[in-house]
Amino acid sequence: MSLSGRTAIVTGSTSGIGLGIAEALVAAGANIVLNGFGDAGEIEEIRQRLESTGVRAVYNGADMSKPDTIEAMVKEVEAEFGAIDIVVNNAGIQTVAPIEEFPVERWDLILAINLSSAFHMSRLTVKGMKDRGFGRIINLASAHGLVASPYKSAYVAAKHGMLGLTKTVALEVAEHGVTCNAICPGYVLTPLVAKQIPDTAKARGITEEEVKRDVLLAAQPTKHFVTTEQLGALAVFLCSDAAASITGAALPVDGGWTAH
Ligand code: NAD
Repeated sequence: MSLSGRTAIVTGSTSGIGLGIAEALVAAGANIVLNGFGDAGEIEEIRQRLESTGVRAVYNGADMSKPDTIEAMVKEVEAEFGAIDIVVNNAGIQTVAPIEEFPVERWDLILAINLSSAFHMSRLTVKGMKDRGFGRIINLASAHGLVASPYKSAYVAAKHGMLGLTKTVALEVAEHGVTCNAICPGYVLTPLVAKQIPDTAKARGITEEEVKRDVLLAAQPTKHFVTTEQLGALAVFLCSDAAASITGAALPVDGGWTAH
């Protein structure tokens, strides 16, 4: 499938799912704008590795909690590439705490990064997509966009909100060759999740395998983590012409979690 000549921005693509999706879009031929935090040397290595495949790859460090820097990034990318065809709203953070103790500043930050950034990216890019008659917006929601878990009030609220935003944008752009969909992954073994396993094993006095099976994958019937490659392949498909009629959808990729 060729996305050759298309330009994609993937927010939060210096790690985990965003990086996996960026790699898949590049493998399909798209130019890529990487975004996210991290070690400057490591990010430059990723950029060069992606660019060595023959596409153009740039990095923009815009903080997705800040509307002004988001707008500046969109303008810079449009000036450099001429168009933004694919937007993957993936940047996200998490805080786990009971509602009565939930830090107010973390609520505000999670809503800003996990939800409002997708609003800003959408409002700033749809006009160009509509004018050109082609566009793809892919929002990384979560199984937590469809069901809740305790102690994740801000995250669950933001991810449920992401599905409402997805449907609304989809309806507004439906006649212009632009689609907007949400991917709802179950657990993915990103560096963030992997780092928690040894500590959880120690805290609960169980093996790391038991942490994966009985703690993390307790809600996931397949007992397998979702992979970044699987999510990347779905994102590439959603960008194809074959997916032109898929819009406003919330697509679970969760090993059966939300079938419960
Ligand atoms: P991750 O921590 O590996 O990656 C998050 C990315 O977001 C990083 O590149 C980070 O630098 C970036 N980021 C964080 N704050 C930012 C900010 N203010 N501005 C710009 N970039 C910022 O996490 P991940 O597991 O790959 O998660 C990616 C997305 O997928 C998130 O939206 C997350 O909610 C969602 N998700 C993850 C899982 C999972 O199990 N890992 C499951 C469902 C949904």
